Amino acid sequence: MTSNEILKSVFGYEEFRSGQKEIIDEILAKKDCLGIMPTGAGKSICYQVPALQLPGITIVISPLISLMKDQVFALNQAGIHAAYINSSLTERQISMAFDNACRGQYKIIYIAPERLDTKRFFELIHAVDISMVAVDEAHCISQWGQDFRPAYLNIVKFVNMLERRPVIAAFTATATKEVKEDIIKILGLNNPQVFITSFDRPNLYFRVKHVTSKPVEALRYCSEHRDECGIVYCATRKNVEEICDLLNSKGIPATRYHAGLTNKERSKNQDDFIYDRVKVVVATNAFGMGIDKSDVRYVLHYNMPQSMENYYQEAGRAGRDGEESECLLLYNPQDIIINRFLIENKEAKDDIDIETQKEIARRDSKRLQVMIDYCNTTACLRTFILQYFGEQADYKDSRANSMTACGHCCNCCNEVDFVDVTNEASKLVDCVYELGERFGQGMVISVLRGDDNDRIIRMGLNELSSFASLASLSERSLKDIINELIRQEVLVKTTGQYPLLQMGPRRKVFDNGDIKISIRDEGKDSSFKRELTRS
Ligand code: ADP
Ligand code: ZN
Repeated sequence: MTSNEILKSVFGYEEFRSGQKEIIDEILAKKDCLGIMPTGAGKSICYQVPALQLPGITIVISPLISLMKDQVFALNQAGIHAAYINSSLTERQISMAFDNACRGQYKIIYIAPERLDTKRFFELIHAVDISMVAVDEAHCISQWGQDFRPAYLNIVKFVNMLERRPVIAAFTATATKEVKEDIIKILGLNNPQVFITSFDRPNLYFRVKHVTSKPVEALRYCSEHRDECGIVYCATRKNVEEICDLLNSKGIPATRYHAGLTNKERSKNQDDFIYDRVKVVVATNAFGMGIDKSDVRYVLHYNMPQSMENYYQEAGRAGRDGEESECLLLYNPQDIIINRFLIENKEAKDDIDIETQKEIARRDSKRLQVMIDYCNTTACLRTFILQYFGEQADYKDSRANSMTACGHCCNCCNEVDFVDVTNEASKLVDCVYELGERFGQGMVISVLRGDDNDRIIRMGLNELSSFASLASLSERSLKDIINELIRQEVLVKTTGQYPLLQMGPRRKVFDNGDIKISIRDEGKDSSFKRELTRS
């Protein structure tokens, strides 16, 4: 059967989605490949279809137990012999699955990475012919991914033991350069073609709201959307409980989901949501893996997540059916403090050495900074997201001159109050120049605010013409302006232990007046407009 026939007869779909056929053809040609696809793009089809065409069996490695179960169930329903082997089975069931597998009963075997290291698995690989290894969530192999799993390194050992090397297809929704390179290098992919499916979700509307009271805002939003299905993500179990109770007490039927509940309650609550017995589920990020509810109309983030990968995956659970849906993130600066604390106090993993852990923490805070920038940018949110995932976005900066707007984010749609700080930004850039690009952000801010501390006086910086030139602005506002200037590439921050502020590629924009710099003016401790009128 051809790929198209299999797609129709086994999976019941009329045509391939963008990218699927290309990956399948590559696999059938026995060429390794890496598919970078956002959640929901349909990567399972990419390995399931060729698995049925290749002569031997396919091993699918996945860390997601519920996903394995669902997919195997669906395959079995379609008459395909498939099984999964993971910790949700009893030892007896595992033993049976291996026995059947060794007798060649399955075409596709899903297996957790931890199981690749067992004696039974070694027996299996000598007993059967393996045509393909599909690695799901492949970023787990990279220490720099947001979810490193040392057991993923077993994959390499196992592939090396095989007499005949199978074709390897890896899949992930994480596209940062470091992670991509790691996947290719560590998995030993052979000159792989990299397929990137667009991350754009045109039916999603993105909104960031700076708020003083999150419960009030969450309640208001859910009441206004009471006829619609929604997910409210919270950072902690405690928040989940509180918000769930609040919604219920105000007549909005909601259920809850987090790792502290019994298995029974979790699956009941999940079903209540999936089968529309309640409209809203309030959950931690434990909720959503492998859940395929298509009519979720909004995803509200009560807290800022720790990375764009996490945010986009969770927000992306809205509007799977292609209908208009909203992704709202409630933000206040407290989110930064909570997340920094969580990163610094992350449970140490025994099998990772101290230096590596430090490096991981450094990368975690870099990822967090991206989220902070997302919450504060005045530019198109969709563009921001797509650029993060390495995609060229068609929508440019809606606030700078002569740019188009995406029409689907709060910044492009003028929902947010912005203040024009072009003049202030210009003074700030002058100061960086006057300081000879030799100082970090802290010093630039001190000089602009006119701090007359010892260091400044000793170096004679109080003699500069930019000294105290923005004395009325708060540190917070100056930081916002700096971030915006960095984002627009007027300034750059050097890397290293003591980052310096320097001129960026677009340094000249102030000369010809070809720029407008604005920052958000809402929910800040001191209103920026007030600061400006004082200056
Ligand atoms: P991912 O693993 O990339 O998150 P899945 O493989 O779970 O995504 O697929 C997401 C949804 O899209 C599933 O409901 C799947 O059945 C559906 N799907 C995948 N490919 C197609 C296709 N070619 N046509 C229609 N639906 C598809
Ligand atoms: Zn936009």
